[in-house]
Parts: sequence; structure tokens; C-alpha cells
Amino acid sequence: MAHFTHLQAPYFPITRRQALLGMAAVAPGVDFCQAQALPEQLWTPIKHGGRDYLPLEQVGVFYRLGGVQRSGQAFAIGGSGGVLRGQAESKEFWISRVKFILSYPVLELDRALCISRVDLVKLVEPVLRPSKIQGAELVDTVVLDPGHGGSDCGATGPAGVEKTHTLDVCMRAAQLLWRAGYKVVMTRTADEFVPLEVRAKVANRLPRSLFVSVHFNSGGNGTGVETYALSPRGVPSMASDGTRVSEIAIYPGNVRDAENSALATATHAALVDNCGLADRGVKRARFLVIRETVVPGVLVEAGFLSNNEDSRRIASPWYRQQVAGAILQGVRNYRRAVGVGAA
Ligand SMILES: [Zn+2]
Repeated sequence: MAHFTHLQAPYFPITRRQALLGMAAVAPGVDFCQAQALPEQLWTPIKHGGRDYLPLEQVGVFYRLGGVQRSGQAFAIGGSGGVLRGQAESKEFWISRVKFILSYPVLELDRALCISRVDLVKLVEPVLRPSKIQGAELVDTVVLDPGHGGSDCGATGPAGVEKTHTLDVCMRAAQLLWRAGYKVVMTRTADEFVPLEVRAKVANRLPRSLFVSVHFNSGGNGTGVETYALSPRGVPSMASDGTRVSEIAIYPGNVRDAENSALATATHAALVDNCGLADRGVKRARFLVIRETVVPGVLVEAGFLSNNEDSRRIASPWYRQQVAGAILQGVRNYRRAVGVGAA
């Protein structure tokens, strides 16, 4: 029980309405009609592999979403569509209609489906109740970071080089954000090389800002869009840098673990809606630009330049405008969700 003091208080008790309003803001489109109001509960954590896990049954009670429905390996909590959905032994997890890659798989322990505590606290909680994030600031500035530039071309493919498309997307997003009343700062506005540390420092100098780094992907048979938030302290990174040192290290950006999850969710939901490419989910990594950024930050990979179909879209101004629109929508949804005003 002692492990959960910061999850239980001051968050508990909450009203079902508060929980659902928060989630609707970050991940709109869910049908809450089936959610049940349930009485008080107690967490009974289960230790496994040196980590704490929590029964999903208790998660359903805590968020007043109802019981766990199972069909083979698949499970759903919260009505017909399932507010929370996934599969036993899998890291793929849906909150409403947004796909996440958890840090650890959902496991069956003591005949109960369980989620790791770190995934619950660092990912699920800030998404379900963004208005409870402590220290979230009123955002009025967006730092746009076009990936690569100058001698660093980034990925290449049939549609050209990454550095050109990231700059174009950021220029379009800057226009949209300006018109919506935000201050916008770009880490580069021309084809020039800007060191990664310098990019992070630009955002760190600006209070009340968000940091959005824009990239395009490459490699293998990959296709689709994915959005990265900084890995929380103590969990493996998705981008194979999972050394012991990086797993235990705490980076400046970890002060924003909760905001990072909420911003990644808000941005990714808009990206999937706008872009029409495969949904690769919200992921975690320790890319330098997001780990050194002390304001809420996110890194977007808006399609694969190495894939013919993705490339065809990335080459079209219409598609790049859609990505820009998703950045604006993500910022707006985040701002609304954390409950410090709306623009
Ligand atoms: Zn890149």
C-alpha cells in the first residue's frame, strides 16, 4: 500500500465525471455510457520480476470504468468498445482509441490480469486524468523543431530527404499556431545544421512552452506514424539503447513525465486522425532532444520515407499540411486537457 500513496492521494477520491472529462479531452471519441460507478477499493500490488503490478480489475474500479471483460487473451474495461483494451502477454494497449506501447507487457499473475505500476502511474494516469497533473503550466508558446538540416540530411527515399520535409511541416504548423494565437519559436528556419543540445536549450529558455520535434522514419518494411515521449525513469527505452546506465538514469526531461504522456497522447490521436497512415502507437525513447528538454516535449515520426506508399503521401503538400494540422490540434487538446485554459 505504501507504494501507492501518490496515486491514491490527492487523486482519490475522484468523481467519474472528472475522470471521463479528462480522458475525453485527450482521447476524444469514446462512448462512456457503459461505464459503471463502483465503490471504494484497495490496491493489492503483486511483485513480479522486481516490479510492482496491479490487477486490472482494481484499475477498472479506481477509474470507475467497471469490470474486466475477457475473450481469450484479449481484455477490455469500460463498456462495449472498451475504454482500456489490450491482450495478455502484450505491450500493445489502447486507451479509448489511442494505441500505446507499454513499457512492460500486461501479465496474468495470480490468475489476474495485471499492468505494471510504472505504466499505470506514468502513462495511464496522466492520460485518464490530465487535469490532475501537478505543476502543469498554462502554455502560450510552441517550440517547433524541424529534424536534421544542413549537412545532416536525415532519412532519404523516393520523396527526397527528411530535412526538407520536416522544415516544410514546421513552417506550416507555425502558420497555424500563429493564427490560433500561440507564440512560435523554431529551432531552425533554413537548411542549416543545429546541434541537438542547442535545440533542447531553445525550449528550456522559454517558460510556458511545449517542444514538438518533427521527423520522418526510415528502415525495413516500416509504415505509419508514431509519437515518442521520453521514457520514464527506470524503464527500458524502445530505441535499443536499453543499457543499464540509460535505464536507471534520470534526465532533465523526466520532471515532465506526466505532461509528456499527455502531450504525446493528444498529438498522436490527432496525427492518426489527420494522416490516414498505419497507427504505430505512442512509444517511449530517450532521444536527446526530448530527454534534455525541461518543458513538455514530444517527437513525431510522421511516416516512412523508405516506404513507397508513405513517401507518395509525404511528397504531397496536402499531407504535410495534415501533419501540421495535427500538431496544432495536439497542442490544443493538451492545453484543454490539463485544464489551464483553452485556445
Ligand atoms: Zn529524423
